Amino acid sequence: MESPLLPAEPMLWSGWGDPARAAELPAPVRELLTELLGVRPPAAPAATFGEVRLPPAALPQAVLAALAAVTGEEHVRADDDARIRHTRGKSTPDLLLMRAGDASDAPDAVVLPGSHEEVVEVLRLCAEHRVAVVPFGGGTSVVGGLTPARRGYAGVVALDLGRLDRLRSVDPVSMTADLEPGLRAPQAERLLAGHGLTLGHFPQSYEYATLGGFAAARSSGQASAGYGRFDDMVVGMTVATPRGTLEIGRAPKSAAGPDLRQVFLGSEGAFGVITSLRLRVHRAPAVRAYEGWRFETFAAGTAALRRLAQEGAPPTVLRLSDETETMVGLAKPTDLGTPGGDSGCLVVAGFEGAPGDVAHRREHAAALLVEAGGVHLGPEPGEKWAQGRFSAPYLRDSLLAAGATVETLETACFWSDLPRLYDAVRLALLGALGAPLVMCHISHVYATGASLYFTVVTAQTGDPLAQWAAAKRAAGEAIVAAGGTISHHHGVGRDHLEAYAAEIGDLGGEILRGIKERLDPAGILNPGVLIPVY
Ligand SMILES: Cc1cc2nc3c(=O)[nH]c(=O)nc-3n(C[C@H](O)[C@H](O)[C@H](O)COP(=O)(O)OP(=O)(O)OC[C@H]3O[C@@H](n4cnc5c(N)ncnc54)[C@H](O)[C@@H]3O)c2cc1C
Repeated sequence: MESPLLPAEPMLWSGWGDPARAAELPAPVRELLTELLGVRPPAAPAATFGEVRLPPAALPQAVLAALAAVTGEEHVRADDDARIRHTRGKSTPDLLLMRAGDASDAPDAVVLPGSHEEVVEVLRLCAEHRVAVVPFGGGTSVVGGLTPARRGYAGVVALDLGRLDRLRSVDPVSMTADLEPGLRAPQAERLLAGHGLTLGHFPQSYEYATLGGFAAARSSGQASAGYGRFDDMVVGMTVATPRGTLEIGRAPKSAAGPDLRQVFLGSEGAFGVITSLRLRVHRAPAVRAYEGWRFETFAAGTAALRRLAQEGAPPTVLRLSDETETMVGLAKPTDLGTPGGDSGCLVVAGFEGAPGDVAHRREHAAALLVEAGGVHLGPEPGEKWAQGRFSAPYLRDSLLAAGATVETLETACFWSDLPRLYDAVRLALLGALGAPLVMCHISHVYATGASLYFTVVTAQTGDPLAQWAAAKRAAGEAIVAAGGTISHHHGVGRDHLEAYAAEIGDLGGEILRGIKERLDPAGILNPGVLIPVY
C-alpha cells in the first residue's frame, strides 16, 4: 500500500464503495457476458433511494429518549437515511434486495456511542427493554452478520461504532498500538503512518471495513502471508457485555488457562462489543516489490505455493489464480476484459520490508519457483494487481445492473485435501447454475494448508436471489463433504449457520450457547447470528 486510501463517506447505499469510483464495464466484458453467459438486462431498473420500502420504526419513544440520555440526542438517529444505510451488509444478496427497494431488515434506530462506558450503558438499557443490538462497524459483512432475528424483540438498534475512532497509544518498544474499533482501515493506517508503523491488514474491503469488524469476523488481508491474519495481530482487547467489562490479554502468550481472546475473535457481536484493541504493529516497509510468475497448470502452481509456505521466508503477498481467472484477467483487475488474455496460471508475489530482507526473500522465492517450473514475468503483472487490488468490488454493481449475478465464496483446508476441495466446489457451482463462469485463486497460504477463493458470474434468472441461494447451498454442501471449513475469513453470520453447526457438532454448539447465556442472558446481542440453535 503506497498511501492509505480515504474514500468518501457514506458508502453507496445499494452498492459498493465510494460513489465517485463507480466503474463502467469494459466493452469486451459486456460482449463476453452476452455471448458466453447469455446475460440480458434485468426486467426492472434498480430502485432509487426514494423508492426504498422501509418498515415503520418500532422502538417506543421512551426507549429512544433513554438512549439519547446516554449518548446525546444527535447520536440516536431514527431517520430514513440512517436506517437505510445500516440495513444488512454488502453480500450480493444484500445488494439485490436493496436494488429491489427492500429495506425490511432495517434497524429501528442507529445509536452512535462515544465511549466504552456509553456502550456498557446502552447494552444495559437494551437488555432491560429487550431491544436487539447489532454492533455495526463498516457494514461490509458478506455473510448476513448484520441481519439479526427480530422476533421476540421490542426493536432493533444498530450500534454504529464510528465515533470510537482514536489511536489511543503506541508502544514502540513492544511494537503494539491501542486503537478503537470504529477506525476504518485507511484511517488506522494513516494514524500509524505518523509513527512510521503499519498494521499490514489489506482485505479487499479495506476502504470501508473497521478494526472491530476485522476482529469480530476473523478477517484475513491480502498480505496475510507476510503480516498474518487479523486474529494473529490482536494481543489484547476490551469488551463490553451486558454483564460487564472484560479486559483480555496481559502478555503476548500465556499459559494461564485457555486464551479468552479467542472467545471474542470471530464472535460477530454475539458475545459482546469490542471497544478497544491492542494490536501488533510493524515498521512501515521501506521497500515494496511486486512481481508475476506463470505456471502451466493450477496443480503445478499449487505445489509451488505449498513449498514457499513450508520452506520459510515467504513473500508478503502470495496468490495463485487458476486458468479461468488468469484468462479472464481478474488476476490483474486493471486488465479485465483485455483481448488475448494470458494462458496458464498467474502467481502474484509481493515482498515488503527492509531492503536486505526483501532481497533475501525474493531470491529464496525465485530459486524455489524456478525449480518448481515457474516462469518469471517481471514486475508488471504484480504491479497491475497491486494497482487494481481494490477495484473488483466496484465492478459488481455494474455487473448486477447489466443482469449478471457475481458473488464470491471462500473456504480453506489442509494441502492434501486442496485438489479435491477445488474440484468439488467448482462442480457444485457448475451443477447448480448451468453454465456460469467459475474462477478461483489461492488467496492465503500457511505451512499446513491454504484458502480457496471462488468468484462466480452467471446470467440472472427471474429470481436471482433464489438462484444464488441454491448455488450457495450446493457449494456449502460440497465444502463440508470435501473436508473444508465453511469460512476462512468471511465469518458465519446467518448465511453459514447451518454448515457451521455441522462443522462444530452438537457439543460445540452447546459451548457457544453456554457462553452466550452467561454473557448475554437476555439474548439481545445480534440474535440469530453465529450461534447454532437446536
Ligand atoms: C467487497 C468486499 C470485499 C471483502 N474482502 C474481504 C477480504 O479480503 N478479507 C476479509 O477478511 N473479509 C473481506 N470482506 C468481508 C468483510 O469486509 C469483513 O468481514 C470485515 O471484517 C467486516 O468488517 P466491518 O467493519 O465492515 O464489520 P461489519 O460488517 O460492520 O460487521 C461484521 C460483524 O462483526 C460484528 N461487529 C462489528 N464491529 C464489532 C465490534 N466492535 N464488536 C463486536 N462485534 C462487531 C457485526 O455485528 C457483524 O456481525 C469483504 C467484503 C466485501 C463487501
